Amino acid sequence: MKTASIGLPNPHRMTLLVLRDANQPVKQLHVSKPLVIAVPLIALLSISGLIISLQIQSSQTISKLEKQIQSQDLRFEAVVTDKDAAIERLQNEVIALSGQSQEMMNRMERVTELETELQKFIDKYGGGEELGRLSSMSLDEDDSLGVGGEFIAVHENEIEQLALDTKDQFTEMSALLDEMEKNVPVTLKKARQTQYTLSGTPTEWPTLSKRLTSNFGYRTDPFTGRASFHAGVDIAGKIGDPVYAAGAGKVITAAKDSSHGKYIVVEHPGGLQSWYLHLSKISISEGDTVTKGQRIGSLGNTGRSTGPHLHFEIVKQEKAVDPLPYLE
Ligand SMILES: [Zn+2]
Repeated sequence: MKTASIGLPNPHRMTLLVLRDANQPVKQLHVSKPLVIAVPLIALLSISGLIISLQIQSSQTISKLEKQIQSQDLRFEAVVTDKDAAIERLQNEVIALSGQSQEMMNRMERVTELETELQKFIDKYGGGEELGRLSSMSLDEDDSLGVGGEFIAVHENEIEQLALDTKDQFTEMSALLDEMEKNVPVTLKKARQTQYTLSGTPTEWPTLSKRLTSNFGYRTDPFTGRASFHAGVDIAGKIGDPVYAAGAGKVITAAKDSSHGKYIVVEHPGGLQSWYLHLSKISISEGDTVTKGQRIGSLGNTGRSTGPHLHFEIVKQEKAVDPLPYLE
């Protein structure tokens, strides 16, 4: 389609010729001059309007985006703050862990020292003063000591090194624990054994034979045939059989007379005494300290005795009591 304007006598009107196909007639359009000006002006105005509205829209979008970015910035800031707090927490944890680890190491060292002390004590086999020293030693469990001081910030590298050191300390501790787990039961067994041998209660059967030939109490006297009181138990055995201290204590008598024959009296802590009569041999001296189960003499037939046997007696506060309830 082509348009052309042709000059006409009327100065306020314009004629537009519309030329279509060659076969089709030419079309004439009469338009007024103001209209010709108005149309492009309107078009221009409307385009301007569009541009302005687009500008407004875009500025709105920008401000919206700006707001979004701002809120995102805030979020990022929050995340960073969280991270900082997490790092600080971690640092504090590592520091606390390191402190705990160090303290644990110290404690374990003290325990190891104690174990060594215990071992020494057992090896010495019953040094009373060692026991006293051992029991007076105690772990300082008081952790409520005051803390404070200047705050000095630490570098990340230092924290890393601290963590590494802590790891090393834990490895060391683990090895120490393994060793202790092996040693302590052995030590404990020895300790129990020692405790037993040091026990002052006369519970150990005093010779090899368990054959009782006379009980504690009233009986017919084997020499006179008259009623009499038997202050202990008679255990038949062979001459030379070992005679053991029934409990730990101090030998207060190691002597010989016509009635008791060769005999021993051991005084135990707690006011008990154990008597061993008619022995063939005495292996200890008066004033000696004996442990439970220690050999103190040999079974015999000395004194007022009708055959090889051990007369065993327990005296409680100067009065003879039935020894059987004491013996295991
Ligand atoms: Zn007797």
